[in-house]
Amino acid sequence: MIPLSVPSLNQAEADLLMSAIQSGWISSLGPYIEEFEKRYAKICGVNYALAVSNGTTGLHLALHSLGVGPGDEVIIPDLTFVATANAVMYCKAKPIPVDVCRDSYCIDPEKIYNAITPKTKAIIPVHIYGHPADMGAIIDIAREKNLLVIEDAAEAHGASINGRQVGSFGDCGVFSFYANKILTTGEGGLITTNDKALYIRMKHLRDHAMSSSKKYWHDEVGFNYRMTNLQAAIGVAQIDKLNYFLDERSKILNKYKNILVESGVECNPSLNGACPVNWMVCAIVPGLERAQRDHAIELLRKIEVDSRPFFYPISKLPMYKNILNEINPISLDLSNSGINLPTYVGISDAQIEEVAEKFISVMKKI
Ligand SMILES: *Cc1c(COP(=O)(O)O)cnc(C)c1O
Repeated sequence: MIPLSVPSLNQAEADLLMSAIQSGWISSLGPYIEEFEKRYAKICGVNYALAVSNGTTGLHLALHSLGVGPGDEVIIPDLTFVATANAVMYCKAKPIPVDVCRDSYCIDPEKIYNAITPKTKAIIPVHIYGHPADMGAIIDIAREKNLLVIEDAAEAHGASINGRQVGSFGDCGVFSFYANKILTTGEGGLITTNDKALYIRMKHLRDHAMSSSKKYWHDEVGFNYRMTNLQAAIGVAQIDKLNYFLDERSKILNKYKNILVESGVECNPSLNGACPVNWMVCAIVPGLERAQRDHAIELLRKIEVDSRPFFYPISKLPMYKNILNEINPISLDLSNSGINLPTYVGISDAQIEEVAEKFISVMKKI
């Protein structure tokens, strides 16, 4: 079976991890955490980075620290991983899923505009599958309407727009280091920001809102959302390889495209000015129905190729289906017809060819 994703770890991660183990600093004190944060902040071109236990807790911590709470509405793209919506619910606020652009798969700024109400407090653009959302337009709307912007950059390490890194446009950005993300620490997350007061507040709340001068004095209800020094050790070794990973992933996408596009398969978008990264190869056969797509995934599995469907629209999930009266047609259409193909550093040219050719042959059968 050619798997969908394989983490790219080797002796470099093992060496730093072992050194963390031998130092005895295995929880959330220890030098790798600060090193990981400082280096990630530099990559993003921001003043501050805060490592957290995972991307979901990062989103929650960011929203909570920015004051998102009961009665607030937060605009999110309908096509995203469920964590984007759940983090809003953890704050007892209401996620409002809006449709995405057909050409970027990312949230449509015009539709954000139409979804704004007096209750709207924030927007969470998601750089889905590694393609940056239209941050210029989104920041303009946020300024005009006085809204917060939290970038969900969980899938887009290293992506940029006109030379500026994702995670540096909004009030803050949130990255994930889950096993299948571009960089991994096993589980892990990180928040980027230029806002010093926000950084200090998030750092405080990450550690049970404990006073830095008075041990066991807590001035509000905080969280344990800390990253461990073990995770950060792996993260530091991963950061060293970021440019290599991005290059390799970009080559992988180009090899897939060389075979798939001429057969009428649509692959990952790339819009003017945006410099996407290839988190996962996306293959869309226009007009494919959900049942056909699911059947194709099954047939691929039978011939030893792992693949996976695009996310369901948030508005189709049981806990969110009552929020909207109408459907978001573009999100639904992409969700029905999109397939992710094996994408990981180390996949060989022969394997890419095999996957692409098997994909084309399966599409002819359904
Ligand atoms: C992976 C992901 C998250 C959550 O990250 P975890 O580290 O798995 O908690 C959030 N949003 C998006 C878009 C993701 O892909």
